[in-house]
Amino acid sequence: MPLQIAVDGPAGSGKSTAARRLARELGLTYLDTGAFYRCVALAVLRRGVDPANEAAVTTVSAGLNLSFLPGAEAEPDRVFCDGEDVSEAIRRPEISRIVSLVAAYPAVREKLTEQMRRLAAAHPVIMDGRDIGTHVLPEADIKIFLTASSRERARRRWRELETAGRAEGLTEENVLAEIEARDREDSSRAAAPLRQAEDARLIDATRLNPDEVAALIRAIVTEYRAGAKRPKYWYGLD
Ligand code: C5P
Repeated sequence: MPLQIAVDGPAGSGKSTAARRLARELGLTYLDTGAFYRCVALAVLRRGVDPANEAAVTTVSAGLNLSFLPGAEAEPDRVFCDGEDVSEAIRRPEISRIVSLVAAYPAVREKLTEQMRRLAAAHPVIMDGRDIGTHVLPEADIKIFLTASSRERARRRWRELETAGRAEGLTEENVLAEIEARDREDSSRAAAPLRQAEDARLIDATRLNPDEVAALIRAIVTEYRAGAKRPKYWYGLD
């Protein structure tokens, strides 16, 4: 089985930034699994389907053809749904508000999980999400659980949105409320909830910058490759 690295954690903890970077450095295929759930939410909204209607959402998701193209160097990643580039559309606040609802449906999860596993069977991968280490790739070689305080995650997400010109009248408080609501929904659902795998290493990035997070994960990978005994928890640098 090719190398598998799972990076899980709550919204805005820096998973994608770290995973994307490590993928480039280590020559791994990168997949932002949250992007796929966002595609389902986008299709649901566009087709005027009620996100609370599980059967209708499942039908929409079953017919979607999704693909993810990691960006080269400084280029952003590209996400395609039925051949259309939806990379920007899936990041809109109205998608963030309903994505956890559609992601809680078991049939939606099964379809996407199967696609993720197919990718991991064919290529060495680093995937970020909520249930990669616990459910999608339970035998992953390396599992990281990356977190940070919700206040810090909201601050970072807010800055990102502002820089990208996507803040649209939102405040940092709105972003905080949205990510806390999403974390609650993601952690409390019955199907593959957000939680730290028992054999995952915890990184609390509240006071770490992206370089420091990447350095910690790199050290874990180096250690793994050297076959060294691994410590269970990593709490940042200080
Ligand atoms: O990572 P991102 O914040 O874009 O994920 C959007 C949403 O997709 C999450 O809040 C969660 O509801 C869902 N998700 C999931 N399982 C994953 C990845 C994302 O349920 N592996």
